[in-house]
Amino acid sequence: MDFALDANQESIRDTIEKICSRFDDAYWLKKDKEGGFPIEFHKAIADAGYLGICIPEEYGGSGLGITDAAIMMRAISESGAGMSGASAVHMNVFGLNPVVVFGTPEQCERMLPPIVDGTEKSCFAVTEPNTGLNTTQLKTRAVRKGDRYIVNGQKVWISTAQVAEKILLLARTTPLDDVKSPTHGLSLFYTDFDRSKITVHEIEKLGRKAVDSNELFFADFEIPVEDRIGEEGHGFEYILHGMNPERILIAAEAVGLGKVALKRAADYAKVRNVFNRPIGQNQAIQHPLAKNWMELEAAWLMVLSAGWQYDQGLPCGPAANSAKYLAGEAGYHACEQAVMTHGGFGYAKEYHVERYLRESLIPRIAPISRELILSFIAEKALGLPKSY
Ligand SMILES: Cc1cc2nc3c(=O)[nH]c(=O)nc-3n(C[C@H](O)[C@H](O)[C@H](O)COP(=O)(O)OP(=O)(O)OC[C@H]3O[C@@H](n4cnc5c(N)ncnc54)[C@H](O)[C@@H]3O)c2cc1C
Repeated sequence: MDFALDANQESIRDTIEKICSRFDDAYWLKKDKEGGFPIEFHKAIADAGYLGICIPEEYGGSGLGITDAAIMMRAISESGAGMSGASAVHMNVFGLNPVVVFGTPEQCERMLPPIVDGTEKSCFAVTEPNTGLNTTQLKTRAVRKGDRYIVNGQKVWISTAQVAEKILLLARTTPLDDVKSPTHGLSLFYTDFDRSKITVHEIEKLGRKAVDSNELFFADFEIPVEDRIGEEGHGFEYILHGMNPERILIAAEAVGLGKVALKRAADYAKVRNVFNRPIGQNQAIQHPLAKNWMELEAAWLMVLSAGWQYDQGLPCGPAANSAKYLAGEAGYHACEQAVMTHGGFGYAKEYHVERYLRESLIPRIAPISRELILSFIAEKALGLPKSY
């Protein structure tokens, strides 16, 4: 057993750190206050060839594994870019996994290179307002008419829809009443984001202002049949295939966020003098930070283990979900402690840690909640009856 990163992985981390150093705290603070997609950052990662880290080489990518991508996403987040930086490239890095696995060679040829070189951005539209985590119940309908599908319905929380040229969309092609199981009858599409047929309303939210999340309304939105991925009615299974990698990557991002918060807290504790000594000399300050460090290290090992399982082609559901749960919690606790360590200054934007705390809630909520992960582990790892 070897816990060390290999030379290639060290080089990924170092190169990403170097790119990210061009986007300093002031850049991300401004983005957090004013919003606006971090287009320069997205371009810098694209130009260095890292958007296609997991896409096969024949389509312009690097053909590396999800473990390598996790190392990259942690480094982005840990640079201080946090979830604002990570979410700006997250979809390019993992989102087209269903196209890679289930797309035809023609679709791969057409769809993947523009995502790798950054000329196209895509959003991922699954969540609906009245369905929640019960994805099989989603209501957006795609009805086939000749060589096109006509889509009507609504999605919510769809990130990057303000800037995306493409959309990966899960919609129901066979009504629920006509299928054997609710997991059947959903289909997956990757197609142009036609703004004349999709109305987009940005949601005002707690953090990550730079990367928008939106309500989407589809009114007779047309999709050519050649933009359907795989077989009609099998979309849910295709989406499931991409869920474990997404959980591993978001877990890595949460670890990175916790790590940068922890570093800021420790640096501050060394120099802030109260009662004639650094606050970091008090165990009441040291112990919670030491606990945060251990929790983040443990979560990172879980991320690496889950990534390794996925890259080996092993079933990795429990590991990927555990990584996402543990990293989400460890990241959040580290960010909260970083604010508390700074006292009143922790609440000031110029110290950055309040921004990290706001962003640290995202990996706890999305793409799946803590409660549903606990239910999944209870069922799959402990053999308890399914509860949801
Ligand atoms: C910043 C952000 C970005 C996002 N980006 C995207 C995106 O790009 N694309 C996309 O498709 N979605 C996106 N999402 C949506 C996200 O994936 C969902 O918010 C998440 O899956 C939770 O779904 P919900 O909000 O409908 O919660 P609900 O399903 O309404 O759940 C609400 C609460 O009830 C709990 N709950 C529900 N059922 C049970 C049960 N049986 N047992 C125990 N507890 C239960 C949940 O755990 C949760 O705490 C984003 C969300 C956020 C906040």
